[in-house]
Amino acid sequence: MKKIVAILLILTTFYSYSQKTKNTEMVKKNTKTEEEWKQLLTPQQYFVLRQKGTDAPSEDGYTSHFKKGTYHCAACDLQLFESNSKFESHCGWPSFDDAIKGTVNYVIDKSVGMIRTEIICASCDSHLGHIFDDGPKETTGKRYCVNTTSIKFVIGNK
Ligand SMILES: [Zn+2]
Repeated sequence: MKKIVAILLILTTFYSYSQKTKNTEMVKKNTKTEEEWKQLLTPQQYFVLRQKGTDAPSEDGYTSHFKKGTYHCAACDLQLFESNSKFESHCGWPSFDDAIKGTVNYVIDKSVGMIRTEIICASCDSHLGHIFDDGPKETTGKRYCVNTTSIKFVIGNK
């Protein structure tokens, strides 16, 4: 009997510990209604972030922006990308070879007759862009192709 109690105790402790670790790793969900987002965002931000729109390709915006800092989600302010992950891809959109761990989720996107992987903010599910396998081979090989409208830059020292 004592043995069973001991085993149960170990199992419960382990379970509550693993739940705790899970929670600290998970990004807090930001749940707003579409009506609230419409009030909060500019029409272009609403189009790109909430309706999965795409900025016109351009070297403006954050495409050729290489200051040190962090790029946050323009909708919910979650930190998504560090400037040391940013690279010049000449594709017309800001490009990163990695995201901050756990902040970006990946969704299969079969729109426009192609199979692509959409990237969304892990907190508020807003559309960020797509991920491709033609990134720098010397790092991750990935290219996170992000809309300038989906992110905002916060100056820092990284
Ligand atoms: Zn967000």
